Amino acid sequence: MFIIFNLGDRKVKHLGNTAQMDCPRCGNTSAWPIHRAKTYFSLFFIPLIPYRTEFLLSCPVCRETRDITEDEKNRLLQ
Ligand SMILES: [Zn+2]
Repeated sequence: MFIIFNLGDRKVKHLGNTAQMDCPRCGNTSAWPIHRAKTYFSLFFIPLIPYRTEFLLSCPVCRETRDITEDEKNRLLQ
């Protein structure tokens, strides 16, 4: 018998958008979508245990991505 496991399954959820902000890369002003990415330990292709959670902002124009903390995420969603 053998076991198939994977440490890299990611599920990304859109949480909302920021207020208008400037992108340091492309210079456009827009509302950036906020995402939560959970990385799962999977067994036999079934995601079982989330072991890492990240919060991300991404520029809708050039796809520049920034990691943010959970506190920043909560502040930006208010
Ligand atoms: Zn940009």
